[in-house]
This record gives sequence, C-alpha cells and structure tokens, in this order.
Amino acid sequence: MSEEFETDSRQMLGQLREAMASESAGQARLDQITHLIANSMRTEVCSIYLFRDDVTLELCATEGLNPEAVHQTRMKVGEGLVGRVARKGHIVNTADAPSEPGFRFMAETGEEIFHSFLGLPIQRLGENLGVLVVQSKRTREFKPDEIIALEVVAMVLAEMTELGAFLGEGAALSARHQQPVLLRGGSAQEGAAEGHVWLHEPRVVITNPIADDPDVEFERLNEAVEQLRIGVDAMLDGAAGGDKDQLQVLEAYRMFANSKGWMRRMEQDITRGLSAEAAVEKEQSTARARMEQVTDAYLRERLHDLDDLSNRLLRFLTGQGVETGAEMPADPILIARNIGPAELLDYGRKLRGIVLEEGSVGSHAAIVARALAIPLVIHAKRITTEALNGDHVMVDGDQGIVHLRPDDSVATAFRDKIAMQAAAQERYASIRDKPATTVDGHTIALHMNAGLMADLPSLDSSGADGVGLFRTELQFLVRNKMPRRSELAVIYGNVLDAAHGKRVVFRTLDIGSDKVLAYMKPNDEPNPAMGWRAIRVGLDKPGVLRMQLQALMRAAAGRPLTIMFPFIAQSEEYTDAKAEIDKALTRERALGHILPENIEIGAMLETPSLAFAPDKFFRNVDFLSIGGNDLKQFFFAADRENERVRRRYDTLNVSFLSFIERIVDRCAKTATPLSFCGEDAGRPIEAACFAAIGVRTLSMRPASIGPVKSILRRTNIGELRAVIHAARDRGDQSVRPAVMDYLRQKS
Ligand code: PEP
Ligand code: MG
Repeated sequence: MSEEFETDSRQMLGQLREAMASESAGQARLDQITHLIANSMRTEVCSIYLFRDDVTLELCATEGLNPEAVHQTRMKVGEGLVGRVARKGHIVNTADAPSEPGFRFMAETGEEIFHSFLGLPIQRLGENLGVLVVQSKRTREFKPDEIIALEVVAMVLAEMTELGAFLGEGAALSARHQQPVLLRGGSAQEGAAEGHVWLHEPRVVITNPIADDPDVEFERLNEAVEQLRIGVDAMLDGAAGGDKDQLQVLEAYRMFANSKGWMRRMEQDITRGLSAEAAVEKEQSTARARMEQVTDAYLRERLHDLDDLSNRLLRFLTGQGVETGAEMPADPILIARNIGPAELLDYGRKLRGIVLEEGSVGSHAAIVARALAIPLVIHAKRITTEALNGDHVMVDGDQGIVHLRPDDSVATAFRDKIAMQAAAQERYASIRDKPATTVDGHTIALHMNAGLMADLPSLDSSGADGVGLFRTELQFLVRNKMPRRSELAVIYGNVLDAAHGKRVVFRTLDIGSDKVLAYMKPNDEPNPAMGWRAIRVGLDKPGVLRMQLQALMRAAAGRPLTIMFPFIAQSEEYTDAKAEIDKALTRERALGHILPENIEIGAMLETPSLAFAPDKFFRNVDFLSIGGNDLKQFFFAADRENERVRRRYDTLNVSFLSFIERIVDRCAKTATPLSFCGEDAGRPIEAACFAAIGVRTLSMRPASIGPVKSILRRTNIGELRAVIHAARDRGDQSVRPAVMDYLRQKS
C-alpha cells in the first residue's frame, strides 16, 4: 500500500473519530460520516445502507444521492448491486454499474448518472450489518488501495453500528439490542421456557476502534500476542504426553499465535488507523466469513481455533473476560455458539433453557440437555450477536423458536402455552401410577431411556416400568479420558440401586458415528454412521468391551443384569459378543467376584439386515429392541443428522410400518420379547400405531411417558390396527392421515 494512502486512510479515520466524538447524534452523525468519506475518497457519492430487518436494507444516509430518498429507498437482500453485496458479503467493484447484471435502477435516488460503483459489506464478526457504497460519475474501477482504505472504514462503521452510535433522538433507526427478535432454529429438546439471557461467553465490546498513534497500538498488540504465546506454550507444556487431540489443537493455536501473516495483516490495519483490538477483530471477522463458506471439516476446525485465539487476544487487549462480573439470573437461559457436554453438566439443572447457534440433534450437548429435560433450540443463527446478558427471552423447544425481548402480546401467548403444558403435565401426573392399558385391554409396558445418573429420579416421577435403554456411552463422552473399570462399576451399581429392582437394560458402548470420544483417535471415515462403530468396535478391539462387561457384572453383584449389544447387523456378531460375556463371567468367577443372579442378553435391531436373520438368531437372543433412529435412517437411506432429509420420510409410511410389523411377526413366531426404543416410541401417535401392530414394550425419554400413556389409555388399538391395514390396502403412502382422522373422531 502506498504511503499516500496509508496517510489518507488514517486521516479519514481521524475525522471519523471526531464525528463519533461530536455532539451530533443519530442521523446527523451518519450524514457527517457519508460527507467526509465522499470527500476523502474524492467520489461524488457515499451512501450507508443498514439492515432494517433480516432481509431488508434501508438507505440511511447519503452524500450525493437525492436526500429525499433517505429512509425511503429500501431493497431486499440480493436485490440490485447493494443487495448483492449484502447477500454475498463480498465487495462489488465496477466501472459501469448500470451494465452490471442485477443492477436495479432506483429512480428516487437519481443514481443513474453515476457509473463507478464500489460496495462493501459492513460486517462484524461474520454478521452483515449493512452496506457502504461510494459512486462516481467517471467510469473507472476503484484501486486496491482505495478498497483497503474503505474496508477499514467499513469495519469502524460496523463497530459504531454495534455500539448504537447512530441512534439518537429523531433518528429513524431503532435501537438494535432493544427490539424484539424472533429467531427460528431447530428443536433438539422439547419444552417451553421463559427466563433471562446468560451468555456462555460474553462478547468483548470494543469502544475505541480508531487510534491516534500506531506505535502505541503496535506495542499493545505485540505485548498481547506475547502474552498469548506464553499462555499457549504453558498449555502445551501442561498437556505434554497427554491427550493427542488436545495437543493437536494446541499445536494449531501455537501455529496461529506465531503466524507472520496474521501479525502482518493486523499491523497493516493498525497502520491504517485502527486500534489494536479493532485490527484483531477485523481479522476475526474475515475468518468468520470464511468459516461460513468452507465445507472442509478440518479447515473449519482450524478457523474455529483462530476464532478462539482471537477472543483470547481481545480479552488481553480490553481486559474484558469471561468473568464480566455479571450475576447469573435466577432463571437463566444459556446462550452459546456451541457447548460441550461437560460444560453443560457443570451448569446442570439450574438452566431453564438452552439456545445454541450451532449444535446438532445428536450432539453430546443435546444428549445431555435431553437427559436434564432442558428445552434446547439449535441452529439459532445470530443469537450470540443479538442477545445481551439479562435480556428477557422465551424458548419454544417444540417448534425450535426463540423470542428474544418479546413484546407483550408474544409474551402473553407464550405464557398461555406454558400454562397449557403445565396443565397437561398435571393430567399426566394423575395417571402416573396407572397402567398403560388400552380401551381393548392390552397393557403396553412403558420404559424410559436414560444415560446419566441425573436421569434416574425420572424413573419414579414418570411412572416408567424400567429403563429400556441405558446409553452407556454418555459416561465415556462427558470425560476427557477413558473411565476406569472401578469407576464404571460404581456408576452402574448406583444406577441399579436407584432403579430399586426395576429392570435396567444396559446397552454396551455405542461409539463411532456422531459419538466420538475426545480421547480416542478419530477415524477419518467417509461415512461414519455406516462405519466402524458400536459393536463393530467392540468386537475388533475388545479391550473396552471386556472392561465394561466386567464393570457391569461387578455392579450387579448378585442382582439380575440385562445387557444389550448395539448395532448387530448379522447373527454372528451377536454370537461373538455373547461369547465375550461368557469369557468375562469365567474371569470374574476365577477372581472370586460375586456373579450376577442371571444375565439377560439382547440385541438392538438397527439395520434392516437383522430383520431377515435366520430363526435361530431370533431364538438365541433373550430379547430384541428396535433402535428406530438408526433403523429408519438405513431403511430410507436418510441421514438422521442431516436437517435436509431427516424429516423427509414419515415413520408412519406404509413401507416402514409394514417392516416393523414383519419384525413383530417374526418375534411372535419365536416368542422373542420385542421392544422399540427409538425416539418415535415417545411420540404419542407413532406409539399408538406401534402398539396397534403388536409392539408391547416401548422405551422413550421420561417426559414422553405421560403423553404416550394418556393416548394409549384412550385408544382401542384393535380398531386402530384395522384403520392402519385399511389405509395400507387402499394404497396410502402414509397411514398418518387415516390414523389422525380416526383419533379425531374418537376424541
Ligand atoms: C436408535 O438408534 O434408535 C437408538 C435408540 O440408539 P441411538 O439413538 O443411541 O443411536
Ligand atoms: Mg442407534
């Protein structure tokens, strides 16, 4: 960059700062800024467009276009050149705007006489806040120096917008962070919650984006980076010889902390007039914008690392930390980009709700949230930038909706919903100790799924008949090193104690696929859900399986024990796994441990192949449990983790239901006890249909037991079976419409 431009850019920032410091507020301040940018850039026009709502941009100030158009001209994201800049978050630089594809002529602005157009996104940490445009009559493209200078200005504008610098009496812009916001994400745990925002990692606020003296800023940056490097080195020393993955992340940190390119770019931004923290944040913004675009998982992780490192650096520079001194509200709703299971467990049950910007339904955090029955919304884009500590927030975990700073009408409607849910809970409580006996006299056993000690109190409160699925992997997932046999024996023993003699089905470790242990080498598999997971790992590397089996036997110590193997795809896998139990028994006997009173051994049917296994297999197992989550994804070839397809096929699709019915028939023939333990077992309509086609045991999350019992007690499943068969014979794709009609008539 030429000396001349460095000085120009610094001068421009100097003037900007004066504008910021001036008495003028809101509109006057914006007008002043467009005026001085146009002057410095020697262009006839400078305009600032800011987002009015998620999709609409509004011309908020202009030098050179028709002043009457201010606050009148609006456009949608993607519309015209300005809309294009906003949508893509990329610069548009053209010598002849009217001939650009997508150019939209706005008569009211009088812009047709301007040929050259340079538009830049006003972005803060990957979030688009608006668009900055300069235009001139002369046909010419803007030079790289000019673009860089304007980028720096756009960065400062972003900070000013964030700080509300353009708000003021009479200003047409309304206060960001004061308005109600509705965010749509995905549901990962149902339930409704009202409370106040608690940010897991409060943002660092930059109050001084512009600096006078670059030398002072260089020094500040260098000092902070030095502190950062020392910190990373200390972490590396501390982790030496330990966990490989953690080391890998720290090595990546060190690489970034010593990256010359990163330093150079930040120093250049300081030369152009930014403060050290603004320079760090500008780099962070660029990395975030890239993060949105890269699809390569490894690269995304590294960009995450850089983001994390930038946050640390900002904390050093601003003295603001995670510990902001803010007090956690009494009714906290946790807001985070993402969170690990262990951190979530630390918060525990005091959280009313959780909203994540990222996350996935099968993530460990989601599993923990479910275990704690805390409503969880994932993929709530922008929540961490929109929410401030203490904001009033309502979380609708059923619909995946978040109302941030809701207005009164929304809050009232939402509270009605919470009240209705509470009333329903009361109804369910009244039938808690009654059996799930249908109108035509069939009793369905309702068990609960669990995975943490924290789940066990639900066994009493939900009225579950037992634990139909205890997912043992959670004990492994929430730790950062492999648990020891003795530790596991204590945990499993506590589970059995808490169950007070009710049956607990312990499923052996189901890792792989989405459940990756932090302390095991990740397998770079092209399709992990169909890869080396669950019993496949257990049989190929039996050390952990053996350890777990021994821990279970020691926990049972004279009591009955039930063990289930996950993901059995062919009969031999079951025979081999069962042989491990026999070996473990022999070992335990030799060591003089008390053996379980008896052991029931079952398999999960999660791949269609097992439904076609020989009769001998069905006779050999003590019981089978349909893992509907996996079975459905393989039946329809629709990834259960992929938001695009996971809801595409109805569980009540005739093909799937007929398939389940076939499994029921096979089990009936061999007198093999059968249960269904996927998520669908907890959905009342689905549960009633499963019962109608002959499934007599269902296992579900505890909160579903009330609603499922309630529908079963009101339904004649013989009649429902006839409705299902009639729909199938008619050729319906899904039996759902017919079933819904029938249930409506009966209610
Ligand atoms: C299933 O696949 O239905 C199941 C219960 O197991 P998980 O959800 O743990 O894979
Ligand atoms: Mg499964």
